[in-house]
Amino acid sequence: MDLQHPRSVERTVRGQPTSDGAGVKLTRVLTQPLQRRLDPFLMLDAFGSDTAGDYIGGFPEHPHRGFETVTIMLAGRMRHQDSVGNVGLLEPGSVQWMTAGRGIIHSEMPEQTEGRMAGFQLWVNLAAKDKMTAPAYRDVPPAGVPQLTLDSGVTLRVIAGEAQGVTGAVTRPTTEPLVLDITLPPGTRLDTALPVGHNAFAYVFGGAVDVGGEAPTRVENQLMAILRNDPGSDGVRLAAPATLTEPARVLLVAGRPLNEPIAQHGPFVMNTTEEIYKAVADYQRGALAT
Ligand code: MN
Repeated sequence: MDLQHPRSVERTVRGQPTSDGAGVKLTRVLTQPLQRRLDPFLMLDAFGSDTAGDYIGGFPEHPHRGFETVTIMLAGRMRHQDSVGNVGLLEPGSVQWMTAGRGIIHSEMPEQTEGRMAGFQLWVNLAAKDKMTAPAYRDVPPAGVPQLTLDSGVTLRVIAGEAQGVTGAVTRPTTEPLVLDITLPPGTRLDTALPVGHNAFAYVFGGAVDVGGEAPTRVENQLMAILRNDPGSDGVRLAAPATLTEPARVLLVAGRPLNEPIAQHGPFVMNTTEEIYKAVADYQRGALAT
């Protein structure tokens, strides 16, 4: 498909180096000040290291309430265990979609002591009416993520939502998240549809990509482009410069904004401060995940 009115880039954002869990080094690409602009997305962390010391501590047992976590593994292995009784192994190419709902306590620990560990964790908000839903968890193995290679040579892994007529591994109501892992060989281009009004961003994690129609914006590796909500726009155009020596890699994310108040305290994301107090109290008395 060719778009008539591709979205333009509102601005690019460089992630902030930080650590989380037991000292896991990561880059927080979508930070708290961007939650309103990129509603319903609350956080995007990118992690990638060949040094065990950067990830070996993992994420020991911790709680969540009020949203969904999406873990996308590119390299390495992580073991998941949770209070619902789920155990899963996250392998390269796999995706874990966890709906924390009213409460879950889980751990995510490396199942390796050396080698590369890389991937993403995306947080997707739940609507107020769904925040106290029962927790749910789904492991999607690599073969469970639909992959298509277009005539152009561009490859898409459709993690969530729908693209190019292909339904992704996960579809979710209300926020209708679209999550695509895209590989563009040098000199190739992709036009893909985005619903008008959905907030969208593209994170480049290999090479570089030109985003937009006329006068596109060059987005370098490790930058996130926030896509403008241009009225009448029909999607996004991504083009890998012909001069690249490696394919461009892009994580494209879009979703329907909830337009509800956001109250966050660490791993709890609710609508009001009172609900946050309740989450903390429930956790402290052992009643978060029962
Ligand atoms: Mn977690």
